[in-house]
Amino acid sequence: MPDSLPVVIAGAGPTGLMCALALRKQGIPVVLCEAEPALTHDLRAGSFHPPTLEMMAPYGITAKMHETGLKVQRWQIRNRPGDLVAEFDLDLLKDITPYPYRLHLEQHRLTPIQLDILKRNKDVEINFGHTLKSFTQDADGVTVTFGTGGADRTIKASWLIGADGGRSAVRKGLDVEFEGFTWPELFVVVSTPYDFAQHGFAFNCYIADPVEWGALFKVPDDGAPGLWRLAYPVNPEESEEALLSPDRIESALQRLVPKAGPYEVRYKSTYRVHQRVASSFRAGRVLLAGDAAHLNNPLGGFGLNSGIHDAINLSDKLARHWHGESEALLDLYSRQRRAATIEQVQAMSIRNKQTMEERDPAVQRARLEELVAIAADPVKAREHLLNTSMISGLKRANEVT
Ligand SMILES: Cc1cc2nc3c(=O)[nH]c(=O)nc-3n(C[C@H](O)[C@H](O)[C@H](O)COP(=O)(O)OP(=O)(O)OC[C@H]3O[C@@H](n4cnc5c(N)ncnc54)[C@H](O)[C@@H]3O)c2cc1C
Repeated sequence: MPDSLPVVIAGAGPTGLMCALALRKQGIPVVLCEAEPALTHDLRAGSFHPPTLEMMAPYGITAKMHETGLKVQRWQIRNRPGDLVAEFDLDLLKDITPYPYRLHLEQHRLTPIQLDILKRNKDVEINFGHTLKSFTQDADGVTVTFGTGGADRTIKASWLIGADGGRSAVRKGLDVEFEGFTWPELFVVVSTPYDFAQHGFAFNCYIADPVEWGALFKVPDDGAPGLWRLAYPVNPEESEEALLSPDRIESALQRLVPKAGPYEVRYKSTYRVHQRVASSFRAGRVLLAGDAAHLNNPLGGFGLNSGIHDAINLSDKLARHWHGESEALLDLYSRQRRAATIEQVQAMSIRNKQTMEERDPAVQRARLEELVAIAADPVKAREHLLNTSMISGLKRANEVT
């Protein structure tokens, strides 16, 4: 009976942890394997939309996140001189969600919450230092080989979930295309405790500019005063050393808000951004979720949120199949989540970036005026917020049959 074998999950990022939690909640045996010796701590996503908070609430994750997260009710579009162009207030959604705001919390503060809750479940096996190397599958199950630093370990699984991030070894082991493109520019992300709110900046702002657009948002850090993170594009042909030199970082921050004295900079890094979607999220008994299945630019804060949405959708369907329903549900998972990714996440994140970086001043003015008109009209603003908060896209995708 293949389904008495556990479901093996590769990757203990937010997506893999969420899959493990959701499957265990439905009585399914789970083995979670993570390549690193501990949860990763690098600076990544940090903005959670209302549906994601709703999905994580039954696990106790959302309540725990609220202990340190920042509620961000308003977000803004600004231009480079720093002027406010349009402001959107999520309070307009208070009749349809208990969380009418974005919650800001660093990804590396979410994963320990997920892991703590998962560990309370005695029937889950969690292995760090297990790097998926290869797998084979047949009609009855999947045989997965992990490198462990010593002898390889082989685990027999009923299903394998690849939640092993953008460079997914699981995806690469399948006959699945990773369709899309890579943006030519690199992104720099810098963090400073300087308080931009004193200049009227909301905790989440997008800054339109044909040369140097930006995205600014505040995360809680270890507590007050918190950290503001600025992301902006740079020339990939320059060395990382030059791009991250103190002078260059300082002048980027001074261009955002000129001030006397230098900025205190806590973190800085560069990263490359892709727009890619796997041609299928299922191949036999192997399933893909999160960054392993899709990648997008950070404008809109969709990447991590959609990984959680994948995990919940997938775990629900896998559990229904486990308890007797048709295996075809797993194809439905792939269709629904690919639809959400392509029609919502890819389309909106690409459009957001194009609006911010539009080089033709007349076109950019027209796009920004459109946003001003939307923000000024409560009916249109509500529709815009339903889209940008991922509520409409999720609803449409869940209707896919
Ligand atoms: C530098 C950076 C900045 C980002 N900034 C933003 C942002 O501002 N906003 C936003 O929305 N999104 C952002 N993202 C995207 C966001 O962080 C991801 O969407 C999110 O991490 C997806 O979670 P995941 O669990 O699917 O993948 P990951 O978080 O990548 O987790 C995958 C896990 O799998 C493990 N793993 C990898 N290979 C193996 C293997 N062979 N075997 C076992 N385990 C393996 C990894 O160690 C990791 O723990 C950023 C991403 C990066 C890389």
